[in-house]
Amino acid sequence: METVLLYAFIVVVTFCFMEFMAWFAHKYIMHGWLWTWHKDHHDPNLKEGHFFEKNDMFFLVFAIPSAAAYIIGLATPHLWLLFVGIGISIYGLVYFLIHDVYIHRRFKWFRQLDNPYSRAILRAHGKHHSKKSKEDCESFGLLVVAPKFFKSRKERQKS
Ligand SMILES: [Zn+2]
Ligand SMILES: [Zn+2]
Repeated sequence: METVLLYAFIVVVTFCFMEFMAWFAHKYIMHGWLWTWHKDHHDPNLKEGHFFEKNDMFFLVFAIPSAAAYIIGLATPHLWLLFVGIGISIYGLVYFLIHDVYIHRRFKWFRQLDNPYSRAILRAHGKHHSKKSKEDCESFGLLVVAPKFFKSRKERQKS
């Protein structure tokens, strides 16, 4: 029983850590030296009508530590690493569903979610996309949202 709880804990911790990693990579790498890969996500004109963005290559990059954790976790006595891999995969899936399907609507799989948290996520990421430039962007995380985005733009302007 304890082992099951421990493994579940590892999955949850990894998931939370991935939000930090995604924030960090977005702020310092994607808006840093790898801006050339991320640029077309901020400027759809650069996609020239293609479905894929250069930005999608980051999915492949994040799949590497995940795959490594699966392989090492299964091939060595360090089974806990398998659950690190599972945590990374679940985060990747959630990121894809929220960021690519829900926010950017690359697939019309579900309708607009409508609750205070989903609206806050949408506003925060919308704010991130309000600039097409490498500099001066804000809201680099996805699931962790600044409290101000729980208010509508109108409410924010008042205060
Ligand atoms: Zn960005
Ligand atoms: Zn986006």
